[in-house]
Formats: sequence, C-alpha cells, structure tokens
Amino acid sequence: MRIGIPAETRPGETRVAATPETVKKLAARHQLVVQAGAGERSSVPDSAYAAAGATIGSAADALGADLVLKVRAPDAAERAQMHAGAVLVGMLNPFDRDTLAALADARLTAFALEAAPRITRAQSLDVLSSQANIAGYKAVMLAANTYQRFMPMLMTAAGTVKAARVLIMGVGVAGLQAIATAKRLGAVIEASDVRPPVKEQVESLGAKFIDVPYLTDEEREIAKGIGGYARPMPADWMRRQAELVHERARLADIIVTTALIPGRPAPVLISEETVKAMKPGSVIVDMAIEQGGNCPLTELGKTVVKHGVSIIGEPNLAALVAADASQFYARNVLDFLKLILDKDDQLVIDRADEIVAATLMCMDGELLRK
Ligand code: NAD
Repeated sequence: MRIGIPAETRPGETRVAATPETVKKLAARHQLVVQAGAGERSSVPDSAYAAAGATIGSAADALGADLVLKVRAPDAAERAQMHAGAVLVGMLNPFDRDTLAALADARLTAFALEAAPRITRAQSLDVLSSQANIAGYKAVMLAANTYQRFMPMLMTAAGTVKAARVLIMGVGVAGLQAIATAKRLGAVIEASDVRPPVKEQVESLGAKFIDVPYLTDEEREIAKGIGGYARPMPADWMRRQAELVHERARLADIIVTTALIPGRPAPVLISEETVKAMKPGSVIVDMAIEQGGNCPLTELGKTVVKHGVSIIGEPNLAALVAADASQFYARNVLDFLKLILDKDDQLVIDRADEIVAATLMCMDGELLRK
C-alpha cells in the first residue's frame, strides 16, 4: 500500500504524523511517501526519512496516497488532492461536524484518533493523553518564563525568596503533568477538579486538593463523569467551587487551567473578579483557550496583562515541544494502524472492534459520527 505523510499546513502546527522510527517499521511492507520538509519543524530532516526507507515527494504525492497520515484534518485544498476511497488517520476533531461532513463528501474513510475510548487496550494509541502530557509540561514552562520571580524557595546571602504558589484547575492528563513539572521546580501546589478519584492522584504528587464537597446525590453522580471525562456540574456546586477558588487564587502566583468537558465550551473557573483579586505579577496559563478558555479574559494566541496579571492564551502547547510531541503522536498512529491492517498488511475495517467503531468518522460518503 502507498502511505503518505504530508506536511501540516495549519498555522502554528509544527508536528508531523510519522518519524523515521515509525517510517522504518512501515517501510518494510509498504511504499512510504513523505512530503519534502514535512518533519522540518519537528527537527526531522528529509534525509532521515529517506534513510528509514521513505521516498521524498511533493504534497500531491503524499496526499494522493491510499493511506494518509496527518496531524490535523486536511483543509479544502488538501482534500482536493486526496482520492475517493483513501483512508485518512489524524486528529480530525470529532466535534467539528462541518469538517467531518466535508471528509465524507470527499468519500474518504476517516479516523479521528481523539475519539478512541479511554480503555486499557487503547492506551498506546491515546493521542489526547500523549499530547496533553506534553502540553501540561509546556504550560508550566511558559508560566515560569513569564513569572518574574523564582519558582523554588531560595535562601541566599542576598535574601530569602518564598516558593511560588501554583494552582492547577482541572487535573486530567495535562493537569497531572503540570503538577509534576511545577513540583520539580520547587513550587507549592494546590489543585481542583470535579471528579472524585482525582483527589488521591493530586495528593500522591505532593500537592494539596481543594475539596469542594458534594452536597446532593445529583452532584455526586454528575461528578463521576462518563468514560473518565467530566460532565458540566450543577450551578450550585460551581458557585461553591468558585468561592473556594477565589480564595486560593488570591494567594497563588501561577494558575494553570486545563478544565475541559468534551464537545462543550470550557467551564469558566477564574472570573474577572478573581483575576482582580490576584497579586500583581501573577501568571495564568489558560490551556482551555481553544474551547473558549477557563478565564473570560484570556485571548486566543496572545499573552495579555489584565489587572496586573499576565494571562497566556497560547493554543496548541504540544506543538511547542514539536520533536517529542511528533514522536509520541507517530507512535500512537503506528499503534492505531495495527487495528486496521491485517497480518498480510491489507486494510481491514472491522467495525465490530470498539476502537475502530469509535474512531471511524465517515466511510463510503456516509457520515458515521452521530
Ligand atoms: P480533559 O482534558 O477532558 O479535562 C481536563 C480535566 O478538567 C479533567 O480532569 C476534568 O475532570 C476537569 N474538569 C472539567 N470540568 C471541571 C470543573 N468545572 N472544575 C474543575 N475541573 C474540571 O481530561 P483528560 O486529561 O482527557 O482526562 C480525563 C480522564 O481520563 C482522567 O481521569 C484520565 O486519567 C483518564 N484517562 C484514562 C485513560 C485510560 O484509562 N486508558 C487514558 C487517558 C486518560
């Protein structure tokens, strides 16, 4: 089979869907075409792909393959270079119905890897986790870079500085890595989440959990989430959380917000009132900005200073650690391919397979994502 790896065209997208390591594994049984320069922004030269067994070609060569591996969904110009019946694998955004409808119209067989269920068998192809892990790390790096004080406590002949106080809002994969990274830098950390099991995880990383008690059975039930993901909490719980967060935010030097609810706008967790109450020179990194942000003052793609607080709205943080992000992503893709290629390396789409069924967005012109 011909497998194509085009360069990503979306602004700010530095990642690539295959690395020399994954190309080498695939090139043993398939014909690989990598678009010239596809790996450049992930520090992978064309020569490394060629040495791994790929042919270096044009965008049309890579997009015209039978199986196209991408990071982001192709735009109209890219779709026009793909052929009907081709298989597309990428982070296609399962909630973007317009794009999925366009892929169906182009008669592509498209898999959105973000839609894989959070089950043990899918762990090695879990792109949300592999990329959120990197993004959580980078969020703390960006915060430390903007923050004009030390993160660790320091006692020097010239004086003593206190450890930075870091507040993490939303402790999924990104939040856990943000806690671990801030801890390594010597910060004192508090964290909040809606889901009950998170408390133990937060404490095991040496951070303090901000407990917002569940007062009703309804709150307790909703807080459990679905499939590991959060659901929108009742207004009363959100109000109580906001009050507690307001108090903790006043003491914080850095806040990293990561709270997401799949397919919905991100919940507002840091109000303008709370930002006003924060210390001058504090920093907020709003990792939820692509879903509208956890703070209403965050601006997409910008760092703004509001009420003396720097608010970082950098989207796509994983792309700022492009080499490792691509390496993890490419491995996720390779693991996914094992589900749709049989032992003779023929394409087999087994819709009885839970992971295949969940990730398959369209086939034969039909939009399958409901
Ligand atoms: P996510 O990116 O969807 O959301 C980030 C966090 O925000 C979540 O922890 C969520 O509970 C939290 N959140 C939502 N609303 C909030 C609010 N109002 N206040 C505070 N926090 C709020 O989450 P994720 O990183 O994708 O992880 C979701 C879960 O799935 C985690 O428990 C993770 O460990 C689990 N997971 C399981 C597997 C597996 O079993 N294979 C793989 C990956 C992740």
